Amino acid sequence: MVDPVGPHSPAAPPAPVVLVTGAASGIGEATVRLYAERGHRVVALDVDRRGLEPLAALEGVAVLVGDVASEQSNAEAVALAVERFGRLDAAVLNAGIGGAGPLEAPGAVERFERLFAVNVRGVVLGLRAALPALRASGGGSVVATSSVSGLRGDPGTWGYNATKAAVINLVRAAAIDYAAEGIRVNAIAPGGTATAMTAAQVADPTFSRFITSRIPAQRWADAREQAEVVYFLTSPAASYVTGVTVPVDGGLSANGGILL
Ligand code: NAD
Repeated sequence: MVDPVGPHSPAAPPAPVVLVTGAASGIGEATVRLYAERGHRVVALDVDRRGLEPLAALEGVAVLVGDVASEQSNAEAVALAVERFGRLDAAVLNAGIGGAGPLEAPGAVERFERLFAVNVRGVVLGLRAALPALRASGGGSVVATSSVSGLRGDPGTWGYNATKAAVINLVRAAAIDYAAEGIRVNAIAPGGTATAMTAAQVADPTFSRFITSRIPAQRWADAREQAEVVYFLTSPAASYVTGVTVPVDGGLSANGGILL
């Protein structure tokens, strides 16, 4: 009888290596934990040093304090993946912030510039840093975090809506440019998800009821539900999926996306 795990069996492929930005909290943290649980090796990048500490204790996770709006931080994150784990197979460009305030308020342009730097420039720099390493691995995949706010307009969040819409079209165009090299580029568009970003809204029972009454699933998402879709998009199961943004929103966008 042949021993299926005997000395003549082919060596198991190395565990995939994934970069996750905005890793210290919410959707990014849930994504790091999911990959780590499934035996992947992960570089977790975030500006929040303290938030990264619990992740540093996980098997196969290397953490890095850095800003996605910085070219250097992105380069360091990819270099860490290659030095520590030998390769890069996927980049989850998830870091994001909200809030430019009213369009005509003092300081709105400066706040928008920071919003754009994190939410859009951060994805551009993440792609630029990751692409050579993905190519060196023989192909790979990128998943950016957009939002249902990129699929529609919301009152009072023009800046956030603009950045998240930019991510959707950036992903389409980059997917076209790199598909022939076996590099897939997709996004998720989360609906309302219970994280630090939405904590005040989730904790306000009146506002929370108002929001969830408009979501067909009638509840906020858990960050893990976003992470599962990110995982799928970077997995071989999604090998023919590129250039798309997947709403993960409990049916909100199917319902016209009218939240407020
Ligand atoms: P969160 O605030 O819990 O996590 C965001 C993480 O990004 C934090 O750890 C933060 O420190 C980090 N971060 C912020 N700026 C950074 C920078 N310049 N460089 C590196 N890290 C940085 O929020 P979340 O809800 O998990 O958000 C994750 C992504 O999901 C964001 O892009 C957000 O816009 C998007 N999103 C969230 C929701 C929601 O309802 N929570 C809905 C749609 C889209």
